[in-house]
This record gives sequence, structure tokens and C-alpha cells, in this order.
Amino acid sequence: MDRLNISEIFIGLSGECRTKGTPTLFIRLGGCNLNCRYCDTLYAKQNYETILLVELYNKIKEMTNNFSYPNHIIITGGEPLLQSDAVVRLCDLINPLCSIEIETNGSIPISDIRNKIEHPFLTFTINYKLPSSGEEDKMYKDNFKEIEIGDQIKFVVFNKEDLIRMAEVYETLVDDLKPFDVRLRNIFWVLPLKKDKNFWRLLENFILLNKLQINLSIQQHKIIWDNKKKKNN
Ligand code: SF4
Repeated sequence: MDRLNISEIFIGLSGECRTKGTPTLFIRLGGCNLNCRYCDTLYAKQNYETILLVELYNKIKEMTNNFSYPNHIIITGGEPLLQSDAVVRLCDLINPLCSIEIETNGSIPISDIRNKIEHPFLTFTINYKLPSSGEEDKMYKDNFKEIEIGDQIKFVVFNKEDLIRMAEVYETLVDDLKPFDVRLRNIFWVLPLKKDKNFWRLLENFILLNKLQINLSIQQHKIIWDNKKKKNN
């Protein structure tokens, strides 16, 4: 509980979804319980070091200039919720003026950890793994009923089959989320895996034709960094 498995920690611009372009401190935790076919962070599953929470806290403090810049922190993986006790402790140490976003792969309940964290600016980005991942059957669907304002649901799509499934899932989720009305516009995000303008156009047409309140997010960091895996390499 006093230690965390860390794959990397770096500062960059957030590359996707609502915080795209935002200066961010990324904490990538090590280890994952899924095996997505297209995993682009295999290194986080396999290469990590275990460090004391207090050491990590001091490092974050130093890198963010005592939490002044950047003041947005993304905790990602791997799968952060595999280390939920330590993540709770870490979040409660972080200055309350910094926003924290925890990105999870969608296979583990979020309610427990959310209820334990007292930090005031906490949101979750929950992946829904589509057929091309090979891991859709691992999705913990009750998570999607527990979305709160500020949370996001993220679909990574690789092909047309994923698009069709995304629309089906969206229709089932949207019913549960009706109380969010216009704020639905900031909840759903779709990220194409392919750097292919024809696929991006197909995706845009698919969203509009099916009247989906889903936002397209081209992964900016992969365009800027040419799929370079680790910013600090
Ligand atoms: S959940 Fe993320 S880290 Fe885990 S296998 Fe899938 S893509 Fe890789």
C-alpha cells in the first residue's frame, strides 16, 4: 500500500479526449489485467519499478513545481485500479488545486476507489473495449451506470465492426445517462487507431449519419511524436 509500480512519469500535452492539448503530468503505472490485441503500452505491462509512495509524491511535487505547473495529472497504465489502495493514498496527497484524471481499462469497478478518494477534482476516463481488442467480454458494465459529471467514456476503434458495436453500446448507455442531457456532449469519445484520413472520414460520416453524441479525438500525441512510445526515451 505504501508502494506503487511505476512504468514512467513525464510531462507532456494531453493527446486525447476533453483535455487534449492540456499541459499534464502523466503517471503511468505498471501491470495490466487485459491483453488487448492492439496494446500500444506493452512496456507498461512488463517494465516497471516499485517505488515508495513518499518518493513518488516528492518527485511529482518537484516536477510540477510544487503542484503549480502543470496542474493536471493523469494516472494511467497499464491498469491503475490494480493498485487502488496506493492510488487512493496518492490522490489524497496531491494538492487539491490540481485536477486528477484516472484512466481505467473498463474491467474493474470504479465505485470503490471513487468513494475512498477525497480529492475534490477527480474524474475517471473509462475505456470500453470493442471487438478488435479481443477483451470486450471483460468489461465491467455497471461502471457505465456510475458516470458522474466530468467523467468520460472512451472507445478505441480499429475497423467497421468496432464502429457498429460502438453505436450499439452507446445506445444502451445513453438511456442510463439521460439526466446529463446536454452534458452528454462531453462524455463519449472515439479514438481511431489508424492514422488514415479515409478511416477518419468514414468515422465522421458514421457519427453524423447515426446521430451519435460522440466526439472524435485524433490522438494528437501520436501525430506529434510519430508513435514514439515513451516521451522520456
Ligand atoms: S488495457 Fe491498456 S495496457 Fe492493458 S492490454 Fe489493453 S491497451 Fe494494453
